[in-house]
Amino acid sequence: MIKFGPSGNSESFFNEGYKSTLEMPEWLSKRNLEIFEYSFGRGVNVTSETATKLGNVAKQYNIEITAHAPYFINFSALEEEKIENSYKYLSASCKIERCFGGNRVVFHSGAQMKQSRDIAFNKVKEGVEKTIYRLIDEGYGDMYICPETMGKQGQIGTVEEIIELCKLHKNIIPCVDFGHVNALLQGALKTTDDYKRVVLDPMLNELGYEKVKKMHVHFSKIQYGAKGEIKHLTFEDTEFGPEFEPLAVALKEYKLEPYILSESAGTQAEDSAEMKRIYNSL
Ligand SMILES: [Zn+2]
Repeated sequence: MIKFGPSGNSESFFNEGYKSTLEMPEWLSKRNLEIFEYSFGRGVNVTSETATKLGNVAKQYNIEITAHAPYFINFSALEEEKIENSYKYLSASCKIERCFGGNRVVFHSGAQMKQSRDIAFNKVKEGVEKTIYRLIDEGYGDMYICPETMGKQGQIGTVEEIIELCKLHKNIIPCVDFGHVNALLQGALKTTDDYKRVVLDPMLNELGYEKVKKMHVHFSKIQYGAKGEIKHLTFEDTEFGPEFEPLAVALKEYKLEPYILSESAGTQAEDSAEMKRIYNSL
């Protein structure tokens, strides 16, 4: 089933006087949203106890929680220790994601640094492949790890690279951040045909329907410059895009059922509700 929700609590959640993420599931269910992405951006700083508590409340309100692993992950790092830590960050994220009751962990796979693209990407491939088998050995064979398409030139994560990573194992599914793709490709996503040609068709051809059907999606409008992503915007923006409706048309036509998280700057809940409205109006 296709699901919509925010990444992180939106400003309106706090403006309405809510303070604790434990209150989030009820708040989201009142808005007819279905998922929430918990970001461990600066580290996995949630205890198993707290995560289990949140997971139980979320279950009560039918909210599924996905996790975003720390931004420090870099499988193409120059130091071996940082590559090993990248695995540890994913393992720690899986542990908490399981307490949340979910089975998806999104991550940024690497950065080119002072290496050729080929060398950097091969390191990422090797690191991610080793990691998936180590996670399975640890008992996380039920977890999907989702490498994300990135918005800046120096980051690993073009559509093609994410496809290659997802070929490594059935438990690796794509996280397509359409705002990132649009930023990196200088506004390439405008029409339904663009969404198909640039992202959906290559993914379907290379990865097959079952995997792409359940892909993970981040969607927000993003300001960009010559080197890609500058900052996340809200749906108020009319300059940078991308627009959601042409994508929704393609998702319906292709019968895809991704989890779609809004990463708008402050209006994540409102903008995910808007995406759900658009999708259901088609
Ligand atoms: Zn991300």
